[in-house]
Amino acid sequence: MLNFDYQNKTRIVFGKDTHKQIGSLIKPFTSKVLLHYGSGSIKKNGIYDDVIRSLKEQSIEFIELGGVKPNPRLSLIHEGIDLCRKEKIGFILAVGGGSVIDSAKAIAMGVPYDGDVWDFFAAGKHPDTVLPVATVLTIPATGSESSIRSVISDEKTQRKLGYGDEKIRPVVSVINPEIYFSLPDFQIACGVCDMMSHIMERYFTNTTHTDLIDGLSESTMKTIMKNGLILKRDHTNYDAWAEVAFSGTLAHNGFLNLGREQDWACHAMEHEMSAIYDVAHAAGLTVVTPAWMKYVYQTNLPMFVQFAVNVMGVEGSFRDQEWIALEGIRRLEDFYSRMEMPLSMKEIDIDSENFELMAKKATGFAFGKENKIGGLKKLTWEDVLAIYQLADR
Ligand code: NAP
Ligand code: FE
Repeated sequence: MLNFDYQNKTRIVFGKDTHKQIGSLIKPFTSKVLLHYGSGSIKKNGIYDDVIRSLKEQSIEFIELGGVKPNPRLSLIHEGIDLCRKEKIGFILAVGGGSVIDSAKAIAMGVPYDGDVWDFFAAGKHPDTVLPVATVLTIPATGSESSIRSVISDEKTQRKLGYGDEKIRPVVSVINPEIYFSLPDFQIACGVCDMMSHIMERYFTNTTHTDLIDGLSESTMKTIMKNGLILKRDHTNYDAWAEVAFSGTLAHNGFLNLGREQDWACHAMEHEMSAIYDVAHAAGLTVVTPAWMKYVYQTNLPMFVQFAVNVMGVEGSFRDQEWIALEGIRRLEDFYSRMEMPLSMKEIDIDSENFELMAKKATGFAFGKENKIGGLKKLTWEDVLAIYQLADR
């Protein structure tokens, strides 16, 4: 087990009706907020009205900035930064999913910074100070409600980049499973598959397996799959949503990578896909992940056997290790299919035209660097190209 130093400042308030407390939860921090949200789902399902009421009850002034799109855009973030400066706002309240929360985190970094906020994502800069962020989570998926990450897209240069910093972990997040009843089928599946990926990116490492985190990860993945399938047929199952939502937070709050190396090649490969083609993040992941697994599994065959047996329920001690590992991957594909997620580039309308460009961008080769990505197997741009080609079926 590697050394670690872990702190998580996010206060999580979980359960029925909890979003109605948002005003009193943030009152100790502020009396004026930027209320940041997406394209209108919160107005249709009543969450917007509840949040406004709660802010008014606590006499918290709010200025609104809606319109965040999936794969949040730098241009709206610039708008939010200008608005906060003009209105002298020192606190961001994000009511939405990962896109809204990540956009809020970027605004929070940009307001006190003299340069362009994109510097943090693209130029290796780190903020001295950031505004505090709170969230009302409307889709369990990214774990951004309690994570140190923000992922945003510069639509002009077609680059999608992430940044990680303890300073941007939200101070408070409300998770009310009832809010997720209004999610459409596809978004349910996206959330479930993204959180699976957040665990797999930490689970598949070469040298740093530990009994405790392996076990917690396996149990979290099984919980997500079991309850994700329940939600496919029963969108308003509170208990299943509670299991999925709690798992989504645990998947990405940094706990399941303690003491170990991590991989993250699939997220890096996916970001290049959604940067150019604007596909849903999780749809890119379900396409690229099985291809990545088939490309790398021999690097650590015992780990893929452990995954097959402990997570995917493969039995067959009489079979050889290779068969078991591949059967585990096949069952993961089967799970994605049951969630009605895509498995091939064709299904998400990506042709091979930009494979080489995406591979070179993912590894930094396109920008004069020769970084390899991934922890389990260090991938060159040629490896990434081969993985994109494997997914092109
Ligand atoms: P999202 O992009 O925030 O939202 C997806 C869609 O779901 C939107 O159209 C949204 O509509 C709708 N929606 C949200 N809540 C709803 C509800 N309760 N009822 C009905 N519709 C609802 O989805 P996400 O998967 O959470 O975020 C994806 C983004 O996060 C990607 O850019 C991805 O790369 C990034 N990401 C970040 C991290 C991180 O650690 N920060 C990790 C992984 C991925 P409205 O706009 O109308 O609300
Ligand atoms: Fe993700």
